[in-house]
Amino acid sequence: MTLRLFNTLSGQLDELVPMDGKALRMYACGPTVYDYGHIGNFRTFLAIDVLRRFLKLTGTEVRHVMNITDVDDRIIQNAAAAGIPIGEYTARFEQAFLEDLEALKVQHPEQLVHATGHIPQMVELVQKLAAAGAAYQTEDGSWYFRLASFPEYGKLSKKDLSGMEDGARVDLDRYEKDSARDFALWKAAKPGETFWDTPIGRGRPGWHIECSAMAMEYLGESFDLHAGGEDLIFPHHENEIAQSESVTHKPFARHWMHVRFLLVDGRKMSKSEGNFYTLRDLLLKGYKASAIRLALISVPYRHQLNFTFDGLIEATNAVERLRTFHQRLVSGSFAEGSDPALQAAAKTAQTDYLAALSNDLNTAEARAPIFDLIRAANTSIDQGQLFAADRDAILAVLASFDAVFDVIADRDAEPTRRALEWAAQSGRLDDVAPELLARQSLTDEAIDALVAERTLAKKQRNFARADQIRNELAEKGVVLEDSKDSVRWKRK
Ligand code: AMP
Ligand code: ZN
Repeated sequence: MTLRLFNTLSGQLDELVPMDGKALRMYACGPTVYDYGHIGNFRTFLAIDVLRRFLKLTGTEVRHVMNITDVDDRIIQNAAAAGIPIGEYTARFEQAFLEDLEALKVQHPEQLVHATGHIPQMVELVQKLAAAGAAYQTEDGSWYFRLASFPEYGKLSKKDLSGMEDGARVDLDRYEKDSARDFALWKAAKPGETFWDTPIGRGRPGWHIECSAMAMEYLGESFDLHAGGEDLIFPHHENEIAQSESVTHKPFARHWMHVRFLLVDGRKMSKSEGNFYTLRDLLLKGYKASAIRLALISVPYRHQLNFTFDGLIEATNAVERLRTFHQRLVSGSFAEGSDPALQAAAKTAQTDYLAALSNDLNTAEARAPIFDLIRAANTSIDQGQLFAADRDAILAVLASFDAVFDVIADRDAEPTRRALEWAAQSGRLDDVAPELLARQSLTDEAIDALVAERTLAKKQRNFARADQIRNELAEKGVVLEDSKDSVRWKRK
């Protein structure tokens, strides 16, 4: 099954297949590790996760490189303000970022590379650009890319740059979307700033050159796909194309994927608006990592995702529905045989699910047939009309759903535990929802003991005590499920 994915460069859905016929080589711009990741960042990394998981599910090998931007204007400023070296400053946030990816079950790229580990490659690229007449040095020792040397500039963002002033420069890593100017490749060190002593002078790389140098180092001069959030189309990705293609005269990335910005309650997320959330903020409010994952991936990546707490509750319920149903299939006993209608329903669900994802990763449409199948199967179980072969067929559909969505297996306790530990260490316990603290105070062993006590109480016909235990557990977010010969519990 071939994926048709929107390509910002061509402006249409293009088939995504490895150009070398072997592995799909992709580069995703990673985080700038100057703060904790917010849910907008994670929407983008999750969309890329959905892409790589779908490719793998449908038999395409993936070689995915992601960078960590561990030097840039903001990092230098913040580290200086904290009075520590930039490496010490970024290590903490990189660690936090990796933990957050783990919490959200975002698969690791095949290679994770650091900007500060590739300074020689960046310097070499600047030298090649200078030799090609596409870079020049200014009096202070900085190097700039000459936009006028690259007539195709603007082809990704579809900007018309005919009125551009030749030689106008900008030395910020991040700058306004409507100004196309010669941009910094290499910034001469200002007094007191971190610098590298190199053949092109003492200084540090600009942000854009990092990604060109690292992408080509690991994936070659031309590769299949480059991805990031939509804010990166201009200038970051436009600049990457200019820097790379000016040297290689080959297409840099063939396919460009951009993830639409997430809004919160209909507005741009911002700290001053009070609608800014990191992953940790949500975990401390008591939401499960799996529900956050599902909420962030269920809106297709090119559609506007308006994050709301109602949406998060909907996702929480959807995860619960999936898990309860899965459990019902796994633990139930079903007679041998099969029901033709259910077999057909499972087949249709699987086909529709894959078709939706192969159509520009339409996750919303991919979810629908799975939940339809759950409804049909639940009705059949209630009527005693689901058989062993049906169970197997439906479990296979769920496995393929979970190969991409990955929310059925319950691994939510660990991220929550870690977030609480982090809150305690960083003085943020006031941000923890009281219900979460209450829930967390009960260990698994304590719950097992109470459940055993309740079973005994029931045996002794002490129903008052049995009910008391059930209520006590419910207050702390533990639900009991009685079946004929056992009791299972789970945290809400
Ligand atoms: P940064 O660390 O700022 O370079 O961002 C890391 C990734 O998150 C980039 O791919 C950004 O485009 C993406 N990103 C930042 N804010 C949002 C947002 N509100 N919605 C979606 N993606 C975002
Ligand atoms: Zn980048």
